[in-house]
Amino acid sequence: MAANEPGQPDPAPSLISRNLPTPASALAIGAHPDDVEFGCGGTLAKWAAAGCVVHHLILTDGSKGTWDPHADVAALAAARQLEQREAARRLSDEHAGTVTFLAQVDGELDSSLALRGEVARVIREIRPQVVLGHDPWKRYRLHPDHRHAGLLACEGIVAARDPHFFKEHGIAHHRPAMLLLWEADEPDHVEDVTSSFERKLHALEAHVSQFESTMKAIDPAQVTAFRDRVRLRLGGLAARYGHPGDGMAYAEIFKLISDL
Ligand SMILES: [Zn+2]
Repeated sequence: MAANEPGQPDPAPSLISRNLPTPASALAIGAHPDDVEFGCGGTLAKWAAAGCVVHHLILTDGSKGTWDPHADVAALAAARQLEQREAARRLSDEHAGTVTFLAQVDGELDSSLALRGEVARVIREIRPQVVLGHDPWKRYRLHPDHRHAGLLACEGIVAARDPHFFKEHGIAHHRPAMLLLWEADEPDHVEDVTSSFERKLHALEAHVSQFESTMKAIDPAQVTAFRDRVRLRLGGLAARYGHPGDGMAYAEIFKLISDL
């Protein structure tokens, strides 16, 4: 099931870092198709425009992402893979990297040792400078897939970086430089996404199957209302974390972990 727009906490704006240098490559790890676009789509689109190769790893098949009790869930899962590939293309154009699906059953994701190994394998194959994922420690989060996806990102990095973990992969270990967690319980980093905000919206709207259940949008007027809600939220973050005269109109915020 797809993410709703999260309510963001309201941390003190002191000690907030801003705008990482554009990495050469990034890997975003989401529980469901569309989580990445909600969580960090503006940041990824900004980096892609500056030359970063952007990769996606989607852990579940998204087969619970409908309110229709009679839906063909296999067809839905297939449609959502196509939507995710289109969203990745819209974010990154010629800098789109791989889109990998682990196709776990939506709603039943766990953070098992076996899945940790699969995430570590993708990290070792792609060798991203920056990994982005759900914050697994977000308080009062109800959806278990988001929590487990966050744990898999964090624990997958540990397994990927240390050479004696999963030696059976036969792939060299790899230590990313940084991890950014979206929907963060204690955000401490802001990315200015003014230049890429429209591209984030365009990518979100590739998830056509989710318009009714996630975006509460089934007609053009409701799509417009959805866009306005995203604009309001990211605009509010920019107003809070921007500095006078810096021109930041839209922002995404994260927990930044750089000691990997
Ligand atoms: Zn989700």
